[in-house]
Amino acid sequence: MTFDAEHPDRPTGAGVQERVLDTLEAADVHATFFAQGRWVEAYPATAGRIAPAGHLLGSHSFYHARMPLFSDAGFDEDVREAERAIRDILGVDPRPWFRCPFGVGFDDPRVLGRLAALGYRDVNWDIEPDDWDPDRTARQVEDGVVDGVVARGDGAVVLLHTWPSSTIAALPGILTRLRDLGATFVRLDELPDGPGIS
Ligand SMILES: [Zn+2]
Repeated sequence: MTFDAEHPDRPTGAGVQERVLDTLEAADVHATFFAQGRWVEAYPATAGRIAPAGHLLGSHSFYHARMPLFSDAGFDEDVREAERAIRDILGVDPRPWFRCPFGVGFDDPRVLGRLAALGYRDVNWDIEPDDWDPDRTARQVEDGVVDGVVARGDGAVVLLHTWPSSTIAALPGILTRLRDLGATFVRLDELPDGPGIS
C-alpha cells in the first residue's frame, strides 16, 4: 500500500489524513507514504506521525508540479526543497524513495536521470483505483484495489491518496478483504524483489 500525502486538490472531509493513519495503525499495517514537502511544512503534526508509526517515508516533490516541466535548476531545487522539509521537520531522509506527481515523468529518461543524480528512484504503481476522482464511490475504490491486487498477485503496488473521503471510507474494507485473501502488507523496502521501479 502506498499513499501520496499532499495538499488535496479539492475540498475533503476534516481529519481524513489522521484517520487514514489511525486505520492503518489499528490494523497493524505498515505502508509507504510519499510526502509533498509543502504539505509537510503545512501539517507537521500529521506528517510527524508517519515514520514513528513504522511507515516508510519518501518524497513526493515540493510543489507537486509535473516534473518534466522544470528547468534543470528548477527540478533540482524542487527535489532538494522537499528533502530539506522532510529532513528538517520530520528528521527522516526520504532518499531513495520518490514518486513523481501525477506519475508524470516515470518513463522520461531526463527525469529519471536527474532523480538518480540526486539520490532518488521513482516508484510508480500497479494498481490505481482513482480515489482522487470525486465521482468514484468508496465501493468502487475498495473493489478497484482488491480486484487489482488479486489480478496482479505478489508484489502489487497500490496507489492511494491520504485525503479523499472515499479513501478513508474504503480503507477498512480493503485491509480486511485482502487479509482474508491471504495478503501480507509490507513497505516498499520490504518487498523481496523490490518495487516496480520505473
Ligand atoms: Zn500527488
